Amino acid sequence: MKIGIAGAGVGGMAAAIALQKQGHDVTIFERARAFGRIGADVNLTPNAVHALDGLGIGAVLRKTAARPEYRISRTWDSGAETSRLPMSTAAEERYGAPQLTIHRADLLAALENALAPQTIRFATQVEAAVRNGGGAAAILSDGTRFEADLLIGADGIHSAVRHSLFGEDHPRFTGLVSYRAVFPRARGDGIPNLDSFTKWWGPTPERQIVTFPLNLGSEIFVFATTPQEDWTEEGWTLPGDIGELRAAYADFHPEARALLDACETVTRSALHVREPMERWSEGAITLLGDAAHPMVPFMAQGACMASEDAVVLARALDGATPANVAGALRRYEAARIPRTAKVQEGSLANDWLKQGTNADWVYGYDAWAAELTEAA
Ligand SMILES: Cc1cc2nc3c(=O)[nH]c(=O)nc-3n(C[C@H](O)[C@H](O)[C@H](O)COP(=O)(O)OP(=O)(O)OC[C@H]3O[C@@H](n4cnc5c(N)ncnc54)[C@H](O)[C@@H]3O)c2cc1C
Repeated sequence: MKIGIAGAGVGGMAAAIALQKQGHDVTIFERARAFGRIGADVNLTPNAVHALDGLGIGAVLRKTAARPEYRISRTWDSGAETSRLPMSTAAEERYGAPQLTIHRADLLAALENALAPQTIRFATQVEAAVRNGGGAAAILSDGTRFEADLLIGADGIHSAVRHSLFGEDHPRFTGLVSYRAVFPRARGDGIPNLDSFTKWWGPTPERQIVTFPLNLGSEIFVFATTPQEDWTEEGWTLPGDIGELRAAYADFHPEARALLDACETVTRSALHVREPMERWSEGAITLLGDAAHPMVPFMAQGACMASEDAVVLARALDGATPANVAGALRRYEAARIPRTAKVQEGSLANDWLKQGTNADWVYGYDAWAAELTEAA
């Protein structure tokens, strides 16, 4: 089939790789002029690494990613540990894949290199998606129209394809601003557990610090949140004030504060959410990743759910023809909506692995084997 994808993010590229492997003719439209080193971390838990391993990019990811040893929860003032889950080799044994933490740009590069040449048309925005008989068309920013047997909206939280299908609705600001920073490991000398994924749980859900290694452990990533009344800016990497952030965490345990002390600069962005949807598809047009199910990052599953979507979508489309593509999309969304809605809700509840260490329903999911059934 001739397939168009809006957005060359994690989800769009992973779907394109899987669909090209099945012999489909895939074009991705990406509004950015090129990939920059934008963003910082991506956390890939075993469920996502297993999905990406099946696409053949696992070996490349392991060249730059770090492999956190444990997933630890600690209390903001006493420093007491409330949970400790072994990852790395233990996760590999239990789930068939480890957790990998990687710079977003390295993940995007690995995905791009696995695509057929010329798959991505950069500097081309999808402005709208329209149904066209049994097929679909994308209206592009260069004034042309791309006719396809299937159109996939993988165009992120502000998805134009979603607006075309289901009307204009805007993500809700959660009242939380997130800060991200990366520091060289040497600046963290003496801070314990730098090789693990650690979450410091604050006295209220508005305050938390998350840290994990990146780049084979040579760099340490730090994430923190603060409350704010409203938000009007746009962007993932707006400059933040490290002094203000340290002041907001002045009452935290010294080992948590040491993480913020090691950061020299920090970026900030807003946390937005949308409610889970009942449908993602209309005819031969569907949604994937953040376009379908944006979530706050408190389970660190944004890129993971997009990777799972990509594999399940390709499996649902295996053997499909233009005549039965709509039915294949119904099988895809029937398989994916319940799980992603549960992760959206769990992320918002912000209590994942605060206590207890059973992560099986999230980390043990196998996108290559999940059941595909007809929608009710
Ligand atoms: C620039 C950027 C930086 C990020 N940084 C981080 C980070 O540091 N940590 C983190 O946890 N998450 C980050 N995220 C979010 C994270 O990548 C996603 O939550 C997750 O990977 C799901 O991916 P996705 O493919 O569904 O969406 P996204 O990763 O958001 O990708 C969507 C893609 O679609 C493109 N696009 C948007 N609208 C259109 C359009 N109309 N036509 C064509 N192309 C379009 C965007 O430029 C983008 O490349 C970032 C996202 C972006 C876009």
